[in-house]
Amino acid sequence: LRHLVLVLGDQLDAASSAFDGFDPACDAVWMAEVAEESTHVWSSQPRIALFLAAMRHFAADLAARGWAVHHTRLDDATNTGTLAGELARAVQALRPAALILTAPGDWRVLQALRAQARALGLPLELRDDRHFFATVRDFATHAQGRKSLRMEFFYREMRRRHRVLMDGDQPAGGQWNFDADNRAAFPPSGPPPVPAPLGFAPDTVTRAVITLVRERFAGHPGALDDFDWPLTRAQALSELEDFITHRLADFGRWQDALWPAQPWLWHSRLSAALNLKLLHPREVVAAAEAAWRDGTVPLASAEGFIRQILGWREYVRGIYWTQMPGYLEGNALGAHLPLPAWFWTGETDMACLRDALRQTLRLGYAHHIQRLMVIGLYALLLGVRPREVHAWFLAVYVDAVEWVELPNVLGMSQFADGGRMASKPYIASGKYIERMSAGSYCRGCRFDPALRTGPRACPYTTLYWDFLLRFEARLAANPRTVMQVKNLARLDAAEREAIRTQAQLLREGS
Ligand code: FAD
Ligand code: SF4
Repeated sequence: LRHLVLVLGDQLDAASSAFDGFDPACDAVWMAEVAEESTHVWSSQPRIALFLAAMRHFAADLAARGWAVHHTRLDDATNTGTLAGELARAVQALRPAALILTAPGDWRVLQALRAQARALGLPLELRDDRHFFATVRDFATHAQGRKSLRMEFFYREMRRRHRVLMDGDQPAGGQWNFDADNRAAFPPSGPPPVPAPLGFAPDTVTRAVITLVRERFAGHPGALDDFDWPLTRAQALSELEDFITHRLADFGRWQDALWPAQPWLWHSRLSAALNLKLLHPREVVAAAEAAWRDGTVPLASAEGFIRQILGWREYVRGIYWTQMPGYLEGNALGAHLPLPAWFWTGETDMACLRDALRQTLRLGYAHHIQRLMVIGLYALLLGVRPREVHAWFLAVYVDAVEWVELPNVLGMSQFADGGRMASKPYIASGKYIERMSAGSYCRGCRFDPALRTGPRACPYTTLYWDFLLRFEARLAANPRTVMQVKNLARLDAAEREAIRTQAQLLREGS
């Protein structure tokens, strides 16, 4: 055998760089389903099922082209359970002259495969991942010499370089940012009718995976009853088209809004398909821009959506690869509490958090504001160790791959990198959640978002004020948080003490 082409669970594209020059006469493909990838963090059943089912569909696709695919299944009796172990077995059997791999999305996996290739005495050729607009080198060049990195500057550079939403050298519509038109809260009557997203009933391959995951990972969190994610390129393209046609027009407007028992709202559900490389971000961005140019969606919505992909998604990847492995250790706020055990069950009296946690476990999904301003916010205000928050987020979401999860959790949500990624800690009281959900959660909750102390005080509100007290000096020194800290002047010593005591009780009870 000439080349063994290694394909990881999030590299499911036959046009990947690893396949450049692939010759079925003398090359073969290696794929492995290994328990390690589901247990190094306590992965949820939807996340495990998504990866396994998508891998099996992709392997079948390649095999149908007549390519030799060496695919170890999770339930193969001889499976060693690790990527390194499975690679060693395949190399022994196939005796390739070299290994080829598109750069993986996970620092840990890259180290493991490099070490194993060395141990096996085989050259490992690493190729660029073309599933992004920017290479890690482009990002490193952008970052060079900058004291702080901000998404906005990077995003504008990307818009110019890739000619996205540009009119000549000016941003389309004369503005880079349409936040003022976007991000409304729902009226008290609730959202207008939400267009139901396209779902995909499990086929035979997926049903077999669901049975396997239920048996093999019975003790893992989450459920599979509602599993309907796109798992093939054809399905991912249909999901994209459905989003562009039915939800993109209102995406911007409702981007930050929350409503009970409405997991999808106007979000795209495309993150998992993008991260598995079933979709290319270029085609997603091009489809959104085309919908605006055709006049079917407003510019503010198209821009709001494109900013997430061309801006945030590319930016967090750059942060990850330029900061690893040290980034994992960040704990700038000295948080040291363990993660409350009920994060794995959703058993809490806080109505907003219960809904977000239960939905996450049921679907492997929560939209951005649920992740940032409900779940992540609670961990931040409570003071949970960032490593534990990271392990939870990496375990539960179907789109969780470390390069995108880690900067979002450690940097954006927990401020554990001390501001490398976000210009301020994203903190808010229960009043923010009340506003963005038009009171819908708080009405059915035993707490009151306006109260910071007493038996009915909203834990978010208590912990928010406690956070301001704990980090007063740091927040006062940041122009983006100085106004929030100024409100502390209204509190007398007794009230400060009462907040601290109540926050302490919440920590002890967590
Ligand atoms: P939409 O709201 O429709 O957004 C469109 C696309 O933009 C997404 O599919 C995604 O590819 C991209 N995007 C949006 N926001 C971000 C962002 N902040 N960073 C990177 N890409 C973004 N995204 C993941 O893909 N995997 C994760 O593990 C992940 N963990 C997160 C953890 C926290 C604490 C936070 C605050 C955000 C996280 N995100 C993660 C980003 C974002 O929340 C999800 O991409 C989004 O909710 C996925 O749903 P969607 O496809 O319906 O997104
Ligand atoms: Fe959430 Fe607080 Fe409102 Fe309850 S009162 S739903 S905990 S914000």
